[in-house]
Formats: sequence, structure tokens, C-alpha cells
Amino acid sequence: MQKISASVLVICFGMAYNVNMKRSRHIRTNWTTVLPLAAVLLVLLVLLFWLGRSLLIQKADNSPTPVPTPVPTPAPTRVDLFAYYHFAETQEIPVYDHREDKLIVMDLEQYLIGVVGAEMPTAYAPEALKAQAVAARTYALRKILRGGCATHPEAAICTNSSCCQAYISETRMNERWGDEAGMRYNILAEAVMSTRGEVLVYDGQVIDAMFHACSGGMTENSENVYANALPYLRGVESPYENPMRTQTVTVGFADAVEKINAVYPDAHVTAENIRDAIELKAVYPSGRVKTVRLGDLELQGKKLRNVFDLESAMYRLEITDEGFVFQVKGYGHGVGMSQNGANGMAQHGYTYDQILKHYYTGVTIEPDLNHMTVSKDANQ
Ligand SMILES: [Zn+2]
Repeated sequence: MQKISASVLVICFGMAYNVNMKRSRHIRTNWTTVLPLAAVLLVLLVLLFWLGRSLLIQKADNSPTPVPTPVPTPAPTRVDLFAYYHFAETQEIPVYDHREDKLIVMDLEQYLIGVVGAEMPTAYAPEALKAQAVAARTYALRKILRGGCATHPEAAICTNSSCCQAYISETRMNERWGDEAGMRYNILAEAVMSTRGEVLVYDGQVIDAMFHACSGGMTENSENVYANALPYLRGVESPYENPMRTQTVTVGFADAVEKINAVYPDAHVTAENIRDAIELKAVYPSGRVKTVRLGDLELQGKKLRNVFDLESAMYRLEITDEGFVFQVKGYGHGVGMSQNGANGMAQHGYTYDQILKHYYTGVTIEPDLNHMTVSKDANQ
């Protein structure tokens, strides 16, 4: 700083001296002219200096100068295709209709009207239908973000409930519901549009919003049914199941031998040993059967459910003279939201967000599905 000041002084003096020399060539230096001129120049330079400095400071105050965020170059995968180029701009998704065997591109919310119509009776309470709409939207968005339907690579999602999620087209609504189709469509549209764009998020990630028809009174931890323990898919009580679904299945001994051997010949079950062939070994706290002994094998309870086509893994077994009698409660895998439980909660005054937060532990409802992300990690 001192050096700069000294330099400025020298420059001013030099300039003033020079001007004076030009004005009075061949005349001796007139110090009375040089000094005031040097002073004026000095003042001007100081002013310029401060002006420049204050401009620099102003610029510094606006810092950091916004650095343009590098736009990630999307890899040529289906995930990026849907997320960045197609869905994000149009909110339209390619849906494979397995009944019509064709690909239909449709607005996401429009598609969801058909999903809620296929997944839940329109007679259910409005708040339950809204909860279903949010769960279905979350399920669809997660599918889109994770690369689409597994069996139809050209589609974001398909209408086969055993692959993606069920869907009913307007044409089929008219066929099935006749004169009530318009009224029912409006109920579904209200549930979807009043929750437009809302999705369920846990720890910043779109959740796997599993749902089932009826829990039988308690939902199940995800790892007891599927491979992964997900923090938001915990077993919770479901006290208002309406209707509570129960089933009694009687399987004659001969029939049982046939059914078991079709799937588990290694169990070595025969007409002679069938009466002692099935034993329930362990039950989860929810009431679902954890393990069973089937002849020489030990199996998960859900495997036996499949052998006898029981509506859920929450069953008890009686051995009678007629054969095996299974008393079954609930319908479906039991993970995530119970649809009948949601209906019961809604009838007891719970709102759709309370219902969702009850069945999906620790989630938040995000109002805008755009900008949502999902982990590719199977454990999220
Ligand atoms: Zn599918």
C-alpha cells in the first residue's frame, strides 16, 4: 500500500512537471504551477483508485459468482430415458396393456384413475381411495425411475397385477359398470386429482409402496415375506379392517398328497403318511406362519400357502377326518398398506395422509413428484 501511494505521488508529480515543461519550453521550471497541478492530479488518481476499489468490493459482495451446474450427461439407459427426456417433460408414460396387447402412452394421472379403479372398490371411503391413489402413484414413479416394467421393456409399467399393478381402461369400466361407470369414474378421478403429484418418500427416496387387500389385523415386516428389510415396511397393527377377510379351506388327504407332490416331491409325502405330514413349526408375531414341516422338508409358511392356494400366510391348521382344514385370515402378502384396513381407518375419521403414515413407517408425503429420486440399491 505504501509503495502504491509513493508511486502515485511520483507519477502525479512527474505528469504535472511534464505538462509544465511542455507549456514553458526553454523556461525554467515553474514550481508554483507544478505543485498545484500535481495536487489536482493526485486527487483525481485517488478518486479513481477508490472508485475502482469499491467496484471490486461490490463484485466481491455478490460472490460467489454462480458457477453453472454441470448438467449430467444421461447414460443411454431406460432409467434416464424416462426420467430426463420423456416423463419429466410430458408427465406421460408408456403403459403396456396386457389385455389389449398394446402399448399406450398416457398421462400419469389419467393412468392412475384406472389403477385405483382396478385396485380398490369405488364404494370404499374417499380418504382410503386417496391413500390408494398416492400409493399407486408412488409405485408407478418408482417403477419409472428404476427402469420400467421387467417383462415389457418398451413400457414404463404394465397392467398385469402379477408383474406391475392392475389397471382398468375406461372402455372396460363402461362394460363392467354400465350406467354407474360415469359416477364411479368421477369418484376415482376425485381421489387421484385431489392428491395430484403426491408421492411417498423415505430418507429422500421414493419408497416401494407395497399394498395388499387385507392384513388380517397386523401387517408384516418386509423381510418376512420378501428378501429385504425396508425401514418403512414394518409390521403394524391394523385394527379397523373392513371388511375383515376370512377363509376356510378344506383339503382332502388324497388331494393334499397330489398337490404336495406336484411341487415338493422331496417331501416324500404318501397316502400312508399324509395325516402326519404337515406341522406348523413357528409363527411370526403378526400371526403369519413362519415355518412348517412338510413331510421330510422344512419350508417357509408362505410356501405352504401357495401349495393350497390360501388367501394369506396367516392360517391355522386342523386335522379332521375329512382332511386338512385351514382357517385363514387376511388376503395378500400383508406388507405395506392394507386396503381394507385403510377403508376402516377412513371410516373412523382418519385422513389419507394419516392412513399412509400409519402403514408406511416414517415416510413423508412430497407434494411434487418431479425432481424425485430413487435409490438403485435394492435395500432402499
Ligand atoms: Zn410389468
